[in-house]
Amino acid sequence: MGTNDGDGMEKEIINLLSSTQIVIHDALKKLGFNQEVFHLLEEPLRTMTVRIPIRMDDGSTKVFTGFRAQHNDAVGPTMGGVRFHHMISEHEVKALSMWMSLKCGIADLPFGGGKGGIVCNPRTMSSGELERLSRGYVRAISQIVGPTKDIPAPDMYTNSQVMAWMMDEYSRLRQFDSPGFITGKPLVLGGSEGREKAGAKGVTICTEEAAKKLGIPIKGARVIIQGFGNAGSFIAKFLHDLGARIIGISDVYGALYNPDGLPIQYLLDRRDSFGTITTLFEGVITNQELLEQECDILIPAAVSNQITAENAHNIKAKIVVEAANGPTSFEATKILTKRNIMLVPDVLAGAGGVTVSYFEWVQNNQGYYWSEEEVEIRLRERVIRSFHDIYELAIARNINMRLAAYMVGVRKMAEASLFRGWI
Ligand code: NAD
Repeated sequence: MGTNDGDGMEKEIINLLSSTQIVIHDALKKLGFNQEVFHLLEEPLRTMTVRIPIRMDDGSTKVFTGFRAQHNDAVGPTMGGVRFHHMISEHEVKALSMWMSLKCGIADLPFGGGKGGIVCNPRTMSSGELERLSRGYVRAISQIVGPTKDIPAPDMYTNSQVMAWMMDEYSRLRQFDSPGFITGKPLVLGGSEGREKAGAKGVTICTEEAAKKLGIPIKGARVIIQGFGNAGSFIAKFLHDLGARIIGISDVYGALYNPDGLPIQYLLDRRDSFGTITTLFEGVITNQELLEQECDILIPAAVSNQITAENAHNIKAKIVVEAANGPTSFEATKILTKRNIMLVPDVLAGAGGVTVSYFEWVQNNQGYYWSEEEVEIRLRERVIRSFHDIYELAIARNINMRLAAYMVGVRKMAEASLFRGWI
């Protein structure tokens, strides 16, 4: 199960990295690429570690460590978030940059994957300290990033304000306005309509498509969502608006379950900014009990490693849509596949955010901005296309959708690396 202590977390990250490498290996093999291609793609091409001295409000100087990993730039510049977290490690940004590459390949974007992070605890820092840290990070990595090299974006504990400081710092360094350097900016600085909800929209569209494939009408479908934060709450709202019956939701403290359906708007109005809601109610069940309830669609949207070899046999959903990163273990994927449960993998379900980041970059480059409806139409078109490519491949090759998604995700990177003569 998910763990919060440092060593446990590092082990989980290393497991995630190695299971990602195993699936990439299988995917390349199925596509007929040789071992040299795997050696190129099993680790990022570049990882930079930087030390950032920052003047704190009390006059002292603190030195922070930051990372930027660029997995593969054969298809185009790399793209991916920057997270602020006290336990971020080099292993983690490396693994996440590989996932970004897969998402870019799946969404058919002209990018490879990147990821960055700074070891810090943003909750204990003032706004001035966070601004100096954001600017210091951009100065430290400025040689390897840029609108045609590597484009950062918001991630865990970074937001549009952090993106604005970073964009301003980069523009000052280069001495020209560079909105295309970073995505997830405020609208007035060239941000895109629909960017904040894009991740949850992508998950919702995948859920609609998966339900169609199994002949389950979304109207009235019984849905359980683990997590009621940014992702889970928006997914709950979007599916509720489509007529689905949300029968279970949860947060870190427990879960609410009612087979007749939960009052979603009432819960949305009362959740706090950390996605906590269950503390307001009695009769709360555990997260593990929630995952094992009868439903049509189960959406883990909280943390990694929730469906494992221990509970995969008890999952009763017909469809599992992975909104969180890595909620289903390697062994559990095999068990669910054997049990004929459709698993929509994280790299597919979670590609909505990077797709709208791409749209933001395109709008910045052309200096012409789209309405929220235009963004949503384009997002829907791409997510549906990716879903169908992967679903059809999984059927044709008799493999699970995770392996099929990895095959679609690595193919362009591998081909582009070969055409460039890198291998
Ligand atoms: P968040 O911090 O806003 O919310 C996390 C939610 O999970 C909270 O309700 C929290 O109480 C709950 N939670 C935390 N630990 C838990 C545990 N051990 N067991 C059960 N519940 C727990 O985070 P978020 O932005 O909603 O992201 C959650 C996941 O979904 C991440 O993996 C993220 O990458 C992915 N995702 C995010 C978005 C988005 O729009 N932010 C979109 C798609 C996917």
